[in-house]
Amino acid sequence: MVLDQLRVLGEADGECVAVERQNGVSPLLVICEHASRLLPVRFGTLGLSEEALNSHIAWDPGALAVAREISQALDATLVYQRFSRLIYDCNRPPEAAGAMPGKSEVYDIPGNATLSDADKQARTEALYIPFHDAIRALIRDRTAQGQETIIVTVHSFTPVYYGKTRAVEIGILHDSDSRLADGMLAAAAGTSHYKVERNEPYGPADGVTHTLVLHGLSNGLRNVMIEVRNDLIADQAGQGVVASYLTRLLQQSMDA
Ligand SMILES: [Zn+2]
Repeated sequence: MVLDQLRVLGEADGECVAVERQNGVSPLLVICEHASRLLPVRFGTLGLSEEALNSHIAWDPGALAVAREISQALDATLVYQRFSRLIYDCNRPPEAAGAMPGKSEVYDIPGNATLSDADKQARTEALYIPFHDAIRALIRDRTAQGQETIIVTVHSFTPVYYGKTRAVEIGILHDSDSRLADGMLAAAAGTSHYKVERNEPYGPADGVTHTLVLHGLSNGLRNVMIEVRNDLIADQAGQGVVASYLTRLLQQSMDA
């Protein structure tokens, strides 16, 4: 009975981890933690309005589409989380306040307001652990087969945050290993397409490099986090242009 009440994913929800191009030949392993605004059935709307459920607090609009285009262009394996970060934010460790937030930007999230330790544990076990275990398994298999792995996470951010407009268009983020980011920024400096900046609109001090640390730094693998302002990737045309731009930067950086 208790277990039933705590169950996060039911039969109708399916698996939380999705993998595309599992046997991709590229060294890049593309990861999208905030790919989806889908909520598991038992959570209903979490007490949120339709507007909030469609907004950046639930997912990174456009990020999965861009990640898919990069994956396709380079024949790179893509891993993404099928459920909304409102249930569990897979780019945060379980102990972080933002992992299962009661409030996100200006929105209160009623369904997350009073989570017990058991609720948090159930969400962690249902969404966070399988997601990162799947990435670990992919890296292990690739290494065993002699395939190099370079970690690339793809995100999007909102143009207006707490009422303030953000000028940066593409952020290239890194933690203590900046090899790939340096190469991408050098490649971007030779273009005038977008306003590209290092560790903007936020950086490692904001706790956003969890996935990079977990899978990149801990294994000595080159890694980068890409943040795209979501108004640039609101439709297929924009997604295509940004994805081919990023693919070019990644190629130039990888080969450097
Ligand atoms: Zn994100």
